Amino acid sequence: MSVSENVMRIRENIERAAARSGGNGSDVILVAACKSNVKEKIREAISAGVDACGENRVQELIEKNAAGVYAGCPLHFIGHLQKNKVRQIVGVASLIQSADSAELIEMISKRALHLGICQDVLIEVNIGREAAKSGVDPRAAAELAAFAGTVDGVCVRGLMAIPPYSPGQTSELRCFQEMYNIFVDIKSKKYNNIRMDYLSMGMSADYEAAVSCGANMVRIGSAVFGARQ
Ligand SMILES: *Cc1c(COP(=O)(O)O)cnc(C)c1O
Repeated sequence: MSVSENVMRIRENIERAAARSGGNGSDVILVAACKSNVKEKIREAISAGVDACGENRVQELIEKNAAGVYAGCPLHFIGHLQKNKVRQIVGVASLIQSADSAELIEMISKRALHLGICQDVLIEVNIGREAAKSGVDPRAAAELAAFAGTVDGVCVRGLMAIPPYSPGQTSELRCFQEMYNIFVDIKSKKYNNIRMDYLSMGMSADYEAAVSCGANMVRIGSAVFGARQ
């Protein structure tokens, strides 16, 4: 199947999944996870109407961006952000989905203030409490979001999570549900200067489950572009 057919099918699946939880599929932001794909395929995804392009490696994002690959489409950074790469990403990505420590948020702030912008970020939550994964501990997510609200140049727009890989299993559904609860809880606290607009969770194998649990942003790679080499 072509990339545009894939995008169309994903939209239909999102529509169905959103309806299951009384939501609307058109409220769900589809981020194409572009890693390792060539310009032609990414342009096809953009033409097919994905809402944003996401990259998880800084170098790849910078090179492709310089080559005009994402022209006309919002660009998100979705991978782990090393502190020494912050200056390359701030102001280039419209959304950094992986802010997960006070130190990183302060570095993003410093660069954003230098550029005279406010950098939109999501707080990444390590919902599976996995030692090897990035993200803030679920119990500390609200505190980190509140902290970010006190930092100039950083605008919190929501939360992101990558649960342990177990598509279709109860453990994963529980992670999605727990994320939704954290999202709603932080929203209800009405911290100054933070917004809870986006809950980013769900990838190729599990985006329908994520959407039915309340995700309104999904990051999808292989189901858009085909399996990675
Ligand atoms: C690659 C990637 C995705 C998408 O993965 P697929 O399983 O190919 O859909 C989502 N989020 C992040 C952070 C990624 O790096």
